[in-house]
Amino acid sequence: MSSTAALLVFIGILALATFLILLPRIVGRREARRLQERPSRRSPVVVEDGPAPAIDDSATDEVVVDEALVEEIESIEVEELAPTEIGVEAPRLRDRLGKTRATFSGLVGTFRRGGKIDDDAWDELEETLLLADVGMTTTEAVVAGVKERAADTHVDADGLPELLRDELAARLEATGSDRALHHAADGPSVWLLVGVNGVGKTTTAAKLAKREQADGARVLLAAADTFRAAAADQLGMWADRLGCEIVRGQDGGDPGAVVYDALDAAHARNVDVVLVDTAGRLHTKVNLMNELEKLKRIVDRTPGALQEVLLVLDASTGQNGLTQAREFAGAVDITGVVLTKLDGTAKGGVVLAIEAEFGVPVKLVGLGEGADDLVAFEPAEFAAALVE
Ligand code: GDP
Ligand code: MG
Repeated sequence: MSSTAALLVFIGILALATFLILLPRIVGRREARRLQERPSRRSPVVVEDGPAPAIDDSATDEVVVDEALVEEIESIEVEELAPTEIGVEAPRLRDRLGKTRATFSGLVGTFRRGGKIDDDAWDELEETLLLADVGMTTTEAVVAGVKERAADTHVDADGLPELLRDELAARLEATGSDRALHHAADGPSVWLLVGVNGVGKTTTAAKLAKREQADGARVLLAAADTFRAAAADQLGMWADRLGCEIVRGQDGGDPGAVVYDALDAAHARNVDVVLVDTAGRLHTKVNLMNELEKLKRIVDRTPGALQEVLLVLDASTGQNGLTQAREFAGAVDITGVVLTKLDGTAKGGVVLAIEAEFGVPVKLVGLGEGADDLVAFEPAEFAAALVE
């Protein structure tokens, strides 16, 4: 076999090699023919309406520059927006409260139809309040309050929306007396942000930084959430964007050291407000609460510096937020609540439950993910937005 077989194998390899060498040329020629048959397009943009421009096939490879068009484009003046002009407008509570407002609008519609106030009307009021996560205890109190107002004023059902609005506003005004954010008379003010993971602490720190900067304050962010690796990066990104200072430690490092360094830096650099972003979860809940107490003690070494301990709660967790609030309130003295994500939930009624149960004012509400989406909480505005 040997010599004949070897010859055949050699011829086979030769034929295969020749085929592989010629293949690109064959394909190339076919492609060229195909392109010739098709009208060529100079631009990949397909203009659907209007006649196709006449194209001179002989010049398809040349770039034709229309000088007049270039001049026209260059002469267009682009008005540059200063960075601060973008989105500085604070959102309106009413506009972002859509889902909670929708919960109340059915009730208000029924009332407005008028007629005698019967048990069904009271049941519908109770149901609506429960749906908005006002909670059982506060709902009963609100219904009782509106009943009393109705008895005093002898209104028909169409008078109920106003009574409900007044009752809600009065309750909120009675509990949360002081909604201002406080500053130290002299030296840096420290505001501690506490709350479980994902409620919006870091975002709120950024929003508060922006607000304070707008008021002319020098702000320093302290990344005391060293438990999650990405947490300091997230705050760092905001610090870059807002142009404020940041003190951060090592991942997994001691948050106490971060707070200590932040205060040191604040004194040295004449910082007005130090915003401390804390961890929302540690290995155990006891650890977390102990750590918050420790951070508070470190701040307290500068007497009068600790001005706010803000509990950040996610409105969309509704009544569950109250359980969290209880735990945090037991560990550190909360000075106020920031209720976030009120823009995406029907559970906005939880504001009433928070204030009624804790006697702690909701100072601010979060209405979106942007740095401007934080507004002061105004009871009358809130009540009017729910009941129109
Ligand atoms: P943290 O774990 O408590 O620090 O929470 P983050 O600040 O990281 O926020 C968690 C998520 O909630 C992020 O995607 C935020 O953009 C979003 N978030 C925070 N506040 C608001 C708010 O008021 N409205 C909405 N819609 N999203 C928010
Ligand atoms: Mg965070």
